[in-house]
Amino acid sequence: MEFTDDPSITSFRNEVRSWLSDNLVGEYRSLGTSAEMGAHDWPVRVRWEQELGRAGWLGLTWPKEFGGRAASVAEELAFAEEYALADGPQRAGFFGEGLLGPTLITFGSSEQQERFLPPILRGDEYWCQGFSEPGAGSDLAGVRTTAVLDGSTWRVDGQKVWTSQAQFAQWIFVLCRTELDQVAHKSLSYVLVPIDQPGVEVRPLMDLSGNDHFCEVFFDGAVTTSDMIVGGRGNGWRTAMGTLGFERGTAFMAQQLRFAKEFAKVRQLAVDKGVERDAEIRQRLARAYGELEIMRWSGLRNVTRFLQGGQPGPEGSIGKLFWSKWHQRLGELEADLLGADALVLQPEGSTAHDFQHTFLFSRAHTIYAGSSEIQRNIIGERVLGLPRS
Ligand SMILES: Cc1cc2nc3c(=O)[nH]c(=O)nc-3n(C[C@H](O)[C@H](O)[C@H](O)COP(=O)(O)OP(=O)(O)OC[C@H]3O[C@@H](n4cnc5c(N)ncnc54)[C@H](O)[C@@H]3O)c2cc1C
Repeated sequence: MEFTDDPSITSFRNEVRSWLSDNLVGEYRSLGTSAEMGAHDWPVRVRWEQELGRAGWLGLTWPKEFGGRAASVAEELAFAEEYALADGPQRAGFFGEGLLGPTLITFGSSEQQERFLPPILRGDEYWCQGFSEPGAGSDLAGVRTTAVLDGSTWRVDGQKVWTSQAQFAQWIFVLCRTELDQVAHKSLSYVLVPIDQPGVEVRPLMDLSGNDHFCEVFFDGAVTTSDMIVGGRGNGWRTAMGTLGFERGTAFMAQQLRFAKEFAKVRQLAVDKGVERDAEIRQRLARAYGELEIMRWSGLRNVTRFLQGGQPGPEGSIGKLFWSKWHQRLGELEADLLGADALVLQPEGSTAHDFQHTFLFSRAHTIYAGSSEIQRNIIGERVLGLPRS
């Protein structure tokens, strides 16, 4: 395992650091690092994406023929680390740049690539992910939304739920049934649907942190043209698994650095409150610190695998299971340290507000991107080789 950058990566890292120092200022700096994203700050987040796009930081790892910079894994990691160290805001363009873009590059037609990739790279067009439904989350093959071809148009009917950012997006990628005479996986297609039309209704849902970042999406005779299927009719399962692979890939590379910065603030709060020597608080801080180090070393091991040309394996589930519970426990410690202040909503932009948000939002960590039970199934079956349940 090599811990030092080679000179080309050092120079790349310096370029990123200097650009962030010059540009991550003013209204962009005021976005903070919280995952809280809503109507109140969406326009600023869009302007930040456009800044990143103009400077060529969007699509960093995409091939050059698609407008990217063909960055190596080491460069991608350096960018993610510098972004985390500079307290870069949560990215509004994740679904387009991180999920749909790579999916189109791998499975899309050249017309789809030409139509959709450039506006993602400019930060001009936003996407959301229409997979989960009221009866199909962990078991995605159970989706019931249908698309039926009528001449040159698909007619889409059904419902999606927990669709993050649907109220801001212009397009949604929908996993739905098109081959109604086929069973399960073979009946599915991956369809691109414009949101701003009479057949689509988006209803934001309020989560327990008081934020409305995800939505219900209803399709009632929504239309999209016949060329909007990615990867071919009946191949939706393969295309969707490709998208989920990108989601679980390198997206969380520098997360440990963000956690380390948050932990430092928690420790400081314990000092400020004069309880850092309290036996129970010390124990919880020590455990959090020890586990943070475990995350750092496991992260480095994963990065080494990437650098050696490997792909994310089922071992990624161990990381997801670990960090999701860790962050929930840290949120509980944050709330306990805040004491009575945790009961009253604290001013936005304050550390106390961020701590309240971590405490409330971290409940979702063990559900999205594969629930803890599903991660345990993957570890049992594909890492430990136990029999399938
Ligand atoms: C903050 C947040 C954002 C999200 N954003 C999006 C989005 O943008 N787009 C989108 O499509 N979805 C999104 N989701 C949905 C998310 O992917 C699902 O909630 C998740 O896949 C779980 O599905 P479910 O809610 O239907 O629960 P279910 O699948 O119904 O599971 C219910 C319970 O049963 C357990 N369970 C299910 N199957 C098994 C099994 N085989 N073995 C053992 N236990 C099992 C689960 O672990 C869970 O505890 C989001 C969710 C959250 C919380």
